[in-house]
Amino acid sequence: MDGNRLLENKTAVVTGGTRGIGLSIVKRFLEHGACVALLGSREETVTKALTELSEYSGRTAGFWPDLCSPEEMSATFDEVKSRFGSLDILANNAGIASSTPFTDFTMDEFERIMRLNVEAPFVCSQAAARIMKEQGGGVIISTSSMVSKYGQPAGAAYPMSKYAVNGMTISLARELGRDNIRVNAVAPGVTRTDMLASVPQASLDRISAGIPLGRVGEPEDVANAFVYLASDLAAFVTGTIVNVDGGSLV
Ligand code: NAD
Repeated sequence: MDGNRLLENKTAVVTGGTRGIGLSIVKRFLEHGACVALLGSREETVTKALTELSEYSGRTAGFWPDLCSPEEMSATFDEVKSRFGSLDILANNAGIASSTPFTDFTMDEFERIMRLNVEAPFVCSQAAARIMKEQGGGVIISTSSMVSKYGQPAGAAYPMSKYAVNGMTISLARELGRDNIRVNAVAPGVTRTDMLASVPQASLDRISAGIPLGRVGEPEDVANAFVYLASDLAAFVTGTIVNVDGGSLV
């Protein structure tokens, strides 16, 4: 295995791959030699991301399916497999956060969060696992969050949804291990993406001061953990939730 190219001859799908942590995962996977299909919610954002990645154009593809539709996901993964020859890695990364106070939550918002953060990883993992079983193995990695462990003082549906991601990860690791499918999650701490765009710098400075490593995370910090878990370096690692949070305790 070439230490500089950990994902040579692998094909990956990254949901929410158009910006933020997802786009960073896509870039790192490409740098490590993989073919990558990035999935987004709209054609425009997918096309924009593919344009940014034009130096890798022979190894990229983009789709915008409904991540909660078993039929659309199965068709998308079949298309990825026929284009690149296999489906080795699924990164369930698309997600939305919330800071709505508990007593103001509408069922509409609750369901929107659960659909993208819980139902989509379930549907995508199932469609991918069917292909991975048939081809003899694969890797599923989901983006959880540090708040799945510590909770947060508002937006209760978000930590609930990420706790569900951890549960799915641990259970699928046990169920799919015999099929040579490894299942892990990465739990980022506060990470500099659009999700933080509305947080004032003064608040970010305060947050950074409470993090043992003294800064918020960058998308690349999280993407590096995805590369490790996707690669054969993690061949005996399954059912883990890897913290990438600078040592945060809240
Ligand atoms: P972001 O808002 O920058 O990106 C979210 C991605 O999800 C985008 O690519 C977007 O296209 C996609 N997406 C949104 N709605 C979608 C839909 N309905 N269908 C398909 N795709 C959709 O956010 P980010 O910070 O990069 O977050 C990525 C993941 O990391 C999420 O799961 C998030 O919960 C998690 N996370 C982020 C942080 C943080 O501080 N940024 C911390 C912990 C966990």
